[in-house]
Amino acid sequence: MGDNQAHFWLGLTTGIAVCSVAFSVYTGMVLHQTLTAASKSAPAQTVVSKAGPAQIQFQQDDSPSSETLERLHSMFTINSEKLNQIVKHMIVEMRKGLQADGQALLMIPSHVVNRPTGREVGSFLALDLGGTNFRVCEVVLDGHSGARVRQSKHTITDAQKHMPANELFDFFADCVRKFLIEGFVNVPRGKEEAELQARTWKLGFTFSFAVNQTAIDRGICVYMGKGFVNPGIVGSDVVVLLQEAFKRKNLNIDVQALVNDTTGTLISHAYIQPSTRVGVILGTGTNCAYVEKMENIPKYKGDDAEYAKEMIINMEWGTFDDEQVVIPRTKYDKRVDRTFNQEGKATFEKLISGMYLGEIVRFVIVDLVKNGELFLAGGSPELNEPRSFETAFMSRIERDHTLDLNDTRSVLEEMLKIPRTTLADRRLVKTLCELVGKRSARLSAAGVAAVVTKMNKLDGCTVGIDGSLFELYPHFSNRMRDALREILGISAENIVLEQARDGSGQGAALIAALANEGN
Ligand code: ADP
Ligand code: MG
Repeated sequence: MGDNQAHFWLGLTTGIAVCSVAFSVYTGMVLHQTLTAASKSAPAQTVVSKAGPAQIQFQQDDSPSSETLERLHSMFTINSEKLNQIVKHMIVEMRKGLQADGQALLMIPSHVVNRPTGREVGSFLALDLGGTNFRVCEVVLDGHSGARVRQSKHTITDAQKHMPANELFDFFADCVRKFLIEGFVNVPRGKEEAELQARTWKLGFTFSFAVNQTAIDRGICVYMGKGFVNPGIVGSDVVVLLQEAFKRKNLNIDVQALVNDTTGTLISHAYIQPSTRVGVILGTGTNCAYVEKMENIPKYKGDDAEYAKEMIINMEWGTFDDEQVVIPRTKYDKRVDRTFNQEGKATFEKLISGMYLGEIVRFVIVDLVKNGELFLAGGSPELNEPRSFETAFMSRIERDHTLDLNDTRSVLEEMLKIPRTTLADRRLVKTLCELVGKRSARLSAAGVAAVVTKMNKLDGCTVGIDGSLFELYPHFSNRMRDALREILGISAENIVLEQARDGSGQGAALIAALANEGN
């Protein structure tokens, strides 16, 4: 049954991969034609009418300037050769990180040594703190690879990213209390508190930040990023912080497992697809976890090193290439690096994930406007506002296939209040989004290629991928597949990329269940 399933997915994915190659050859041709056509045509002209400045008219060619296009292409394109160098360097860094603590890639042992069988049963709570949202879930595992999930979602505000640890964790506990009470059925009004006190729950905590994990339910936060600068979290055991908040709020909840969202994604996808060996996050941030053989983790000295065959490693790959030796960065990437927290850190993440892509595009646009290459009627205060160009705008623009790029127009003119855009402007912005979006997908693929090569799994495995960027950004997975094929050749067919929905919530509950089995 498992085998049939695996073959089915393999077949399906091969089909998609073949289609995507055909598609990319086609788009490559179109792009080439556009560039050639543009270079042959006369340079874009601005004609000021004689009637005076009040009636300025722009008469423009519909294609952006070929010089600008070529410059952007060469800036943001990462070719196959470079991708291969990135893969090689990542494998070297992975080995170093497994050898000793304090390396560029943290390669954190997750303490998760089992993968689920699908026979896990029971009801578990899960909390998931990502970069954007905080979710509370109740997961009921049915013992047959099935689960029922109830959840509530809260957006984390900027103020919450700055408040002291205890206040933030009190907020989490309040959300859980409310969620539990909402879930009470047949409990008469006024009796909720008594019901709350009469019951106990087991919980898995997905905390998507770098943690030095000393046990399945113990971990000191070493680095946050993604805009979180709460005093009192870095340097503290986050399970203790959570457990104390539950105590302050009179909740009988036992935190059984501390989980990174990548580990959660891997585990929850393995519950439904046993060939899963890698979990990747592509959302606000990016990260990856994979199954490593115990003998390849020399730095791990825990008791389970004796009997466990494998352990999930949380790579914290966002900090890959912080020494800046292999990935080419543009001046715009450097500008983004400087304006977000932790300059010089999270190099890989800042080129890939949702928190940064829109801002890279915005910096380029602002520069193009300044150079007179875009929006001849000028930019806008909105465009000059940091982070005003969301990554979701790039998705909308890339999905815009109208002849006049009308949706792109509405993003630029209605949302960003650009006074006037020409078709050439909109085409240029769309190409720019494609370049930055494609680079993100190709770098993500280089990461996946490094991991499956290091694992020796080129003969086949599934990669579960969670996060809004992968889910909502058009062509993201096809672009990853194309890059994988360039790097791995025919072996790329054996690597299945699958959307892992709600990996982090369900995964944390499963890991709590697995931890509970061991007790
Ligand atoms: P988290 O990382 O907090 O777990 P998500 O996986 O939902 O949450 O990722 C949220 C991030 O995804 C947002 O910060 C944004 O950058 C990006 N995003 C949201 N919507 C889109 C979209 N339509 N297209 C591309 N990226 C998106
Ligand atoms: Mg998430």
